[in-house]
Parts: sequence; C-alpha cells; structure tokens
Amino acid sequence: HDTGHDAGHDTHEHGPERTAEAFREVFGHAPAGVWAAPGRVNLIGEHTDYNDGFVMPLALPHTCLAAVSPRSDGVLRVHSGDAPGGVVELRVADLAPFEAGGDRGGWAAYPAGVVWALAEAGLLPGSGGDRTAGADLHFESTVPTGAGLSSSAALEVVTATALNELYGLGIAPQRIAQLCQRAENAFVGVPCGIMDQTASACCTEGHALFLDARDLTQRQVPFDLAAEGLRLLVVDTQVKHELGDGAYANRRAACETAARALGVRALRDVPFEELDATLAELERLGCDAATRRRVRHVVTEDRRVEEVIERLDAGDTRSIGPVLTAGHASCRDDFEISCAELDLVVETANAAGALGARMTGGGFGGSAIVLVEEADAEAVSKSVTEAFGAAGHRAPRIFPAVPSAGARRL
Ligand code: ADP
Ligand code: MG
Repeated sequence: HDTGHDAGHDTHEHGPERTAEAFREVFGHAPAGVWAAPGRVNLIGEHTDYNDGFVMPLALPHTCLAAVSPRSDGVLRVHSGDAPGGVVELRVADLAPFEAGGDRGGWAAYPAGVVWALAEAGLLPGSGGDRTAGADLHFESTVPTGAGLSSSAALEVVTATALNELYGLGIAPQRIAQLCQRAENAFVGVPCGIMDQTASACCTEGHALFLDARDLTQRQVPFDLAAEGLRLLVVDTQVKHELGDGAYANRRAACETAARALGVRALRDVPFEELDATLAELERLGCDAATRRRVRHVVTEDRRVEEVIERLDAGDTRSIGPVLTAGHASCRDDFEISCAELDLVVETANAAGALGARMTGGGFGGSAIVLVEEADAEAVSKSVTEAFGAAGHRAPRIFPAVPSAGARRL
C-alpha cells in the first residue's frame, strides 16, 4: 500500500505524543512507552549481504513509531495508522510461518513474525502456557513503503526493540536485527539479507554503518555531509516494477549456484584480484554469461565498498561520487536490477553536476541516491524532476538523507 506520507517533511517531530494518543484511542488504555526505528538508504554495497559481503547503509530521519504495552495472556493485538483493516488479534501460541507462496497474512505478518522469532529462540517469557507474554502495539510510520527505504525492517525492528525493553530480554541490537531477518525470511516469506534490519537497529547519527555480513563486525564511519558542504539526496521514483520480487530470489539463486560451482562458501570468498581468472573458470565450468555477470557485480561491489571506506577515512568524501556511479553501472549492466526511472535519475543528476549517483535498495524501482554540492542540490533536483516530466513519469519525491540514529525509545 501507499501510506501517502510526504517523505520530505513529516518526520515525527511531534510523533511520540500523537502515537501514544492514537494507541489510547485504539486500545482504551495508555501505552507503556513509544519506540522508534528508522528506514535506511544504502550508500554502497548492493545485493552483497546475502553473499556474505560488505554493505554501508545509513539510517534516515524517517521512522516507524510504535506505542506498546505488554500483556500476560498470550494475546498479540496490532494496529497500524498506515494500514486499513483495524486491529489484528492473534494468539502468540498459534503463530506459525505462512506457507511459502501462500497468503503472507498482510502487514501484520511483520510484527507477528518478530514475536514468533522471539518465541522460537526461547526468548519470550512464559513461552507455551496461557501466561505467555503478549502485547498491544500501534504503529505510525513516515518511512515510505515499497520505496526501497526499508519500511518493513523499521516495522520489525521497532517491534523487537520495544518488546526487548518491556520484557527485559537484554538482546543486543545486532541480535535484534538477526531475529527480525529470521521473521522476514521464515515467517513473512521474503528472502532478504541482514542489511536492512542491521541498519535500522544499529546505525548512529552522523555515521554510515560498515557491516561485514559474514561475521557481522561493524564500524561506524563518520559521514558528516553538512560539515563538508555536501548533500546526499534520496530520489524516490515512486515506481515499483512487478518483476522485483521474483528477480530478487532469482539473483540470489544465481549467486549461490556460482559459489557452489567455484567451491566457495559465498561469492565474498572470490578475491577482487582473481576476478578475471574466476570468470574464465566459470565459463569453463559451463556457467552462463548472465550468471558470470552476476558474479562480476558482487565481487566488484564488495571492492567498491572498501574503496568508499578508504576515501572517507582519507577525508575525501567528494571522491566517492564516481564510485557510486560505477556501482550504478554495475547494478544496471551486470546485475540487471535497474529500470528506466532509476537510470534516468543517475544520468540526469550526473549531467546536471552531481558528484555521483546510484540506485539504492533491491532495484526495479524504489529510490536512487545522489551526492551533490549543497549549492547544486536545488538545480540538480529540478533537472531530475523536469526529466521525469519530459519522459512522462510521475514526479519523484526528493529529500536529503541526513545520517540519523538507529532504533531507540522516545
Ligand atoms: P520496503 O521495506 O522497501 O518499504 P517491503 O515490500 O519490504 O518494502 O515492505 C513494505 C510492507 O511493509 C508494506 O506493504 C506493509 O505490509 C509493511 N509495512 C511497512 N510499514 C508499515 C506500517 N507503518 N504499517 C503497516 N504496514 C507496514
Ligand atoms: Mg523491505
């Protein structure tokens, strides 16, 4: 669904009170607290997380808020100000993953899946009997849904973060991300990697988060754009091409097939220096040209993440621009997950003087990011909007990505 939020302006400045009040109207009592978890953009490292590789997301100021109160009768009641259908009531003991390919149970599957994952891991108090933990939850989000900005991870992570604190579970943020990924993979049925949930749970203000998706080591990399007179624009194309869901699983399968053929655990294990030899070997092994292009994307993309970190560490933020644009070309030509709208953003923005640009997120629509001099931001935005008009596309939503905090209590 489309929440109809204006992603550029409404970022919950007065959110907690409003969300608590809405909770009271829905459930007839006060919440125990209000929590927030952000959406994200990925600076670099696309489709690398499920290859055990590197990613570098940053959290957006846009958040999913949850007003929550605990229950001790094993009942879970969820309500969203952004989704029709009223309160969804479930019994924690009855939660079970939906059949693959079947009805995923609508939006409530995301918070229900988190509760299921907590119970599966033996973390929910009183699991089993009538006195099992439950909760009442009301959500309100300013993260645009289906825009490649991870509204689903924000919804999951805010749920897990609230229950973690309400039940004193002591779960660390990275583990919260893993439980949320488990919920999305096994309960909702989406084969996503670990990036989105980690970004929402672990990002910090003023930083991009470097994550090694294999061993889950992290580093907060200072990314203070304003101090350098730079801006990172998010361009939400507001399109989502249908191909997307099937293509994600297809790309993932191609990567796994290639890793198996090479006898490595994941494509992360192919060193950049051995890329040409590896591609030649894959051809010898009978691997088709498309699969070889997928491999080239993953291996070069991991290298681009390292390059971006090197340049940021050297204090040379402007020089990451061409790396971002090279990443886009790789997504477009080798991984083949771009689309006309995303390509148009990148071409137009770069032609109008941007330092670099790329699609971000799963692809086939959603959002792109554009790195620009602050002084050029307006002109570049205008060029992109005009190009969309000239091409007959709906106007994109453009707003600055300010590196923001991860999940927290408000
Ligand atoms: P993305 O994560 O890129 O925004 P997804 O398709 O992964 O896109 O997740 C979007 C889905 O998450 C929505 O269709 C809806 O089911 C659920 N969702 C996200 N935010 C909310 C919300 N505030 N209220 C209800 N459902 C939500
Ligand atoms: Mg998602």
